[in-house]
Amino acid sequence: MIIPVIFAALVWGIAMRWRRQWPAAVAIGGAALVLFFVWTILSRLEDAATLLFWPYGFTVLGMGGFIAVLPRRPARHECTKCFYDLRGLDPEGLLCPECGQPWCGRGSGREPPDDVLIPMRSGPRKRTNVI
Ligand SMILES: [Zn+2]
Repeated sequence: MIIPVIFAALVWGIAMRWRRQWPAAVAIGGAALVLFFVWTILSRLEDAATLLFWPYGFTVLGMGGFIAVLPRRPARHECTKCFYDLRGLDPEGLLCPECGQPWCGRGSGREPPDDVLIPMRSGPRKRTNVI
């Protein structure tokens, strides 16, 4: 009974990790193929599992397809607008060769300022004016 859950988690995990990239499409296609073979076996049985197969299959493939087309964040070396790979280019004053977006990453001179970290108190505030 745990195998369908593991299968769905595997398909959705691969789709999420490589969304909008070819491994996600391979995972969805492979899942459809596996489900087809399982259906050929289950169709010979008169079992309650055959009733649950179609909702399960549509859920796994539908959610996997939805997850696979979700937008992804650009990697640290990619343009934030068009995902162009900027590795190997001089980062100082760099404009994206594809779309003209200014590069604001490491080494560009346009990095956002570092976050100011304020240490937390180790305990409750002490009373200073006790009456
Ligand atoms: Zn770009």
